[in-house]
Amino acid sequence: MITEPGPRHMPTPTPPPVPRGHLFIISAPSGAGKSTLGRLLRRRCPELSYSVSTTTRAPRPGEADGVDYFFVDAERFRRGIEAGEWAEWAEVHGNWYGTSRAFIDASLERGRDLLLDIDVQGAAQIVERYPDAVTIFILPPSLEELRRRLEGRATDSPAAIRRRLEVAREEMACQGRYRHVVVNDRLAEALEKLVAVIRAYRPPSPAGEE
Ligand code: ADP
Ligand code: 5GP
Repeated sequence: MITEPGPRHMPTPTPPPVPRGHLFIISAPSGAGKSTLGRLLRRRCPELSYSVSTTTRAPRPGEADGVDYFFVDAERFRRGIEAGEWAEWAEVHGNWYGTSRAFIDASLERGRDLLLDIDVQGAAQIVERYPDAVTIFILPPSLEELRRRLEGRATDSPAAIRRRLEVAREEMACQGRYRHVVVNDRLAEALEKLVAVIRAYRPPSPAGEE
């Protein structure tokens, strides 16, 4: 008598491996509009995860711990360096900033696309460690417009604005190291360009799917 093998004899199919997520890095000189574009991008690309950096700078009004940054003191940051906790870290405008290596690795492993908002020093370190990272530089239309935006934002003293503009010149000189450059002249157009760059790497999945 021939008996059909029952379900328990069927080989268990191995699920296909989850493709690794993409790592996107956005850098820009202060005042170019990165935070503004970042906020709009979150709404347009909900499939993207965002890395929350750790910093020694004090929270600004309206910023929340664990949401905008993890706010820590210099001692805690230094322990993170010693423990190899940061995938990259750098001093920016007199404060320390770092990105969690464990968070990046876990996100990419789970197939999540991840966006890092970090400065040019940090971007260079990430590219060393993650050579497939997609780098995007946001440029202001001109230094004069950058000055106007910093003055219009009214969050920095005239001396701080001067320093930010000096640093901006150095940062803008690094734009050639980035795979994509988006000029933030008209906000809506810059947002569309940014979305197009990101979606070129992974088109959005059909509604309702992850
Ligand atoms: P960043 O995060 O790069 O330091 P912000 O997003 O805070 O810059 O933008 C700096 C200022 O410029 C803010 O007042 C913002 O409203 C304004 N801004 C941003 N993008 C544009 C744009 N495309 N045109 C005009 N003003 C802009
Ligand atoms: P802000 O203090 O204005 O939020 O950020 C100042 C600068 O620090 C910005 O250029 C921002 O991109 C950068 N930055 C924020 N988080 C990190 C980080 O984790 N690492 C590095 N290298 N730069 C960061």
